[in-house]
Amino acid sequence: MEKIIFATGNEGKLKEIRDILGSEDCEVVSMKQAGIVLDIVEDGESFEENAVIKAKAVAACTNHIVLADDSGLEVDYLNKEPGVYSARYLGEDTSYEIKNQTILDRLKGVPKEKRTARFVCAIAAVLKDGSLLTSTETIEGYIGEKPAGTNGFGYDPIFYVDTYGCSTAELSEAQKNEISHRGKALRAMKQQMKERHIL
Ligand code: IMP
Repeated sequence: MEKIIFATGNEGKLKEIRDILGSEDCEVVSMKQAGIVLDIVEDGESFEENAVIKAKAVAACTNHIVLADDSGLEVDYLNKEPGVYSARYLGEDTSYEIKNQTILDRLKGVPKEKRTARFVCAIAAVLKDGSLLTSTETIEGYIGEKPAGTNGFGYDPIFYVDTYGCSTAELSEAQKNEISHRGKALRAMKQQMKERHIL
């Protein structure tokens, strides 16, 4: 059975990746489960660069296939902030209530057509022969006028999608996975791996 190491400590992401990539022939394990302890500095200028930095750092410690992701929110009116700094915006330990309210305040009085935003997700894979695969996908939406919904995490309560006319924090897990940046990037990566007969 093929073992794939996913470079994350986040259990939620691990579940999503297992749901999409997992099969009888492949087992997805976390870095921790693989016994890899690393402090990786994500200093890339793009989501793809950061995903590649993480995947390569972990691949240097193992002979298994390694996958890594990096994701975040781009708000057009704010020159694509918080971007690659999404997790670190206003400080790593600042609550998302405050991060979200700050973005709403910065967009006060801005009309809907100028509130466009997107979530971006880049996935990188380092294969056993050292070759690199990447996939980057987005979900387009806009920043609403107020937070809504309790599902999801992070910026979900202020990120609205026209498809459903609500925030992504108001969608079920299955609805979000179907249209999300991460769901799409994972499915695109699965396709590339299938083409190489890895899955
Ligand atoms: P990562 O774990 O380094 O990829 O950090 C991604 C950060 O971007 C998270 O901490 C969230 O702030 C934000 N983010 C990424 N994807 C989503 C999403 O689907 N919903 C809400 N926030 C997200």
